[in-house]
Amino acid sequence: MGRSTTGKSFGGVLAGAAALVALAVPASAEDVDAQAINFRTPFDCGQVWNANTRADHNPQNAVDFQKSNAQGQNVLASASGEVTKVEDLGDDSYGKYLVIEHTDGWTTLYAHLSAFEASEGDSVSTGDLIGKVGSTGGSTGPHLHYEQIDGGTVQRVVLNGVKIKYYGDTEIKSSTGC
Ligand SMILES: [Zn+2]
Repeated sequence: MGRSTTGKSFGGVLAGAAALVALAVPASAEDVDAQAINFRTPFDCGQVWNANTRADHNPQNAVDFQKSNAQGQNVLASASGEVTKVEDLGDDSYGKYLVIEHTDGWTTLYAHLSAFEASEGDSVSTGDLIGKVGSTGGSTGPHLHYEQIDGGTVQRVVLNGVKIKYYGDTEIKSSTGC
């Protein structure tokens, strides 16, 4: 019995060491890239939003965040960076939209805003207020159109380390600023 317990304990230590090694060595360059920035849900702490993706969305990997009473809700920076674009396209496309440039060639884009709460050149931290949800541009109802872009290509969205479902609906509760 005593011998068996010792063996089990030793095995536990080995498994722990192996796990540490696995964490320290990235599986691939792609994994490193995806984990380079911890993008957060761009809404106030505790709010629940539906993240909708669909094949006919333009661009295809964009996410539309929907909820009741969406109009006028705060839109927060997904990660720290610099606001590099604040533009109003009127009744077309994105309408009022804003772009934040992060590190390693990543940007995030927030569209159909009803109001801007940041200006071009602003440095922002994760969770900073940057705008208000609206329905400007080619939008038929209040929602936030959101993109994560790497090197100019819109990527499938990852928030809080969790990949959004493609294609379909994912319920997300924001922990940003909690
Ligand atoms: Zn959209």
